[in-house]
Amino acid sequence: MIKFDLHTHTNFSFDSEQDICELILRAKKLGLKYLAITDHFDNSSKYSTPELDISRYCQTLESFIGLAKNQSVNLLIGIEMGYMPAQNSQNEEIVRNYPFDYIINSVHEIDGIDCYFPEYHQGKDKRSSYMAYFERILDSLDAPYYYSAVGHLGYVIRKAPYNPKEYKYCEFEDILDKILKKIIQKQKILEINTSADGLQEPTIPSLEVIKRYYELGGRLVTFGSDAHNAQKLAHNFETVSKILKDIGFKYYTITKNRQNFEIKI
Ligand SMILES: [Zn+2]
Ligand SMILES: [Zn+2]
Repeated sequence: MIKFDLHTHTNFSFDSEQDICELILRAKKLGLKYLAITDHFDNSSKYSTPELDISRYCQTLESFIGLAKNQSVNLLIGIEMGYMPAQNSQNEEIVRNYPFDYIINSVHEIDGIDCYFPEYHQGKDKRSSYMAYFERILDSLDAPYYYSAVGHLGYVIRKAPYNPKEYKYCEFEDILDKILKKIIQKQKILEINTSADGLQEPTIPSLEVIKRYYELGGRLVTFGSDAHNAQKLAHNFETVSKILKDIGFKYYTITKNRQNFEIKI
């Protein structure tokens, strides 16, 4: 049974045209109890224009809480913060001043380029390309603002030109262990993201990474489809639930008012 989706985009994001009302109605149809809308805030990105109007965004989402409730959907006000060291103080201010329930901290951009785009990989081999991304992820865990979850760990591979795009855990063991241990130590949630079209596995991060997280003691996981349109809402939720159960996880973690609570997988 599909229960929730904590990573979705609407027409407040530069790369989505999804209407909010339609997304909520789709959530109702699928039987979701919790829906977080988490539009992008990547301020310095040359790709993410125009900048998200945070006040208007929050007010709009708040105005939909009642409608969602009538559909038995708890609407969570979320945001996907693009981690960029140069934007730390601005991100900090936004997180402090606006009533977000749930904040995903995501690395998209490295040295001014979103690593989703082929230009990011140009002139780099797979190791240096992925290593720079993982180092930025490690850095992002110490972001000087509150965040709830670590978004799509492994995003760099999505449109990478290497064959295969996928990596083995052992190739990046040192840095990945550091990342996972720090996520656990900081009690952050590891997002299991299913925007993995074209990849060999249905999730980002990969199965090996999720398993290692569990082995190291990580228990805080959540689900996000990263849907940019309503059709992708809760995409592969059942598959993820089975994967997590098989590994040994018993609960999903959901965040409301920045407080975590658990629901059974
Ligand atoms: Zn993202
Ligand atoms: Zn996203």
